[in-house]
Amino acid sequence: MTRAGAALLALASLVLLPAGGAAAGPPAIVLAVVTTSSDLKSLVEAVGGDRVSVDSLAPPLQDPHAIDVKPGQLAQIRSAALLVRVGLDHEPWLRRALAALEGAPAPGGPRDLDLSRSVTLLQTETPRLRADAAPHVHGFGNPHYWLDPENARPMTAAIAAALTRLDPSARPRFEAQRRRFLERLDAGLLRWRAALASHRGARLVTMHDTWPYFAARFGLAIAATVEPAPGVPPSPAALGSLIERMRAAGVRVLVAEPYADPSLVHAIAARSGARAVALVPSVGGDPQAGDYLALFDVNVERLAAALDAAR
Ligand SMILES: [Zn+2]
Repeated sequence: MTRAGAALLALASLVLLPAGGAAAGPPAIVLAVVTTSSDLKSLVEAVGGDRVSVDSLAPPLQDPHAIDVKPGQLAQIRSAALLVRVGLDHEPWLRRALAALEGAPAPGGPRDLDLSRSVTLLQTETPRLRADAAPHVHGFGNPHYWLDPENARPMTAAIAAALTRLDPSARPRFEAQRRRFLERLDAGLLRWRAALASHRGARLVTMHDTWPYFAARFGLAIAATVEPAPGVPPSPAALGSLIERMRAAGVRVLVAEPYADPSLVHAIAARSGARAVALVPSVGGDPQAGDYLALFDVNVERLAAALDAAR
């Protein structure tokens, strides 16, 4: 497809809302946005309000690194005014889908927003495994950065800038909605810090390396991850040594994602004496985690309860 064709498709994705009356000015634009995750959808909605219509590609309860894009979603991507993604090697499935999709937002182009460029990454020195060693390797830094709530500040700034480029007339609205979101975020941070204050320095073991940003924000320590490298299951020998180290170090809590192998979680908890707690890595992964702020309410409450019980 030509550039002009792609631009026409992007324009076709703008829906015009009827204005309140003849004196209310031109009809408002509703931007069709596609995000790779429900977390990014929640942040785009917080900034865009009723001026965005957002679809998320990855279901919240599935491993976000291993998604099958459905044909209907390909059409959504092609016609999106904006594609918002985690970036790095978090979404190998997206690169494959985009490569085969004419008219899709070009990486780095005006319809593409890679939010990894807006935050400070952790683990950027992790050695990259061979591409065929695992479906997903965190090879460019840890991609689970949305789990530090402070990162919502630069992420929503980048979202507001991208939406403003697409609809400059709505800039005051996007800025006001972002300010209101950040006020609620600040109130949340006070609440979450207070709930975890007595657990500063607590050591956790996690199944996948999903939680380093969350742990750093709240003064918790990830003593080890069960996967020897992201996406790679542990060998029986590695598991035995991990369990020994957990017992020796007094690790009392094992954090599992909803899609972790339950029999493995159960076995490690039983053999190490640690308490397993299921944290929710993405909005919608639990009915209570309905938006970005509720995600932290749920996770902080669950983790504090598990750490209290494990004292
Ligand atoms: Zn990961």
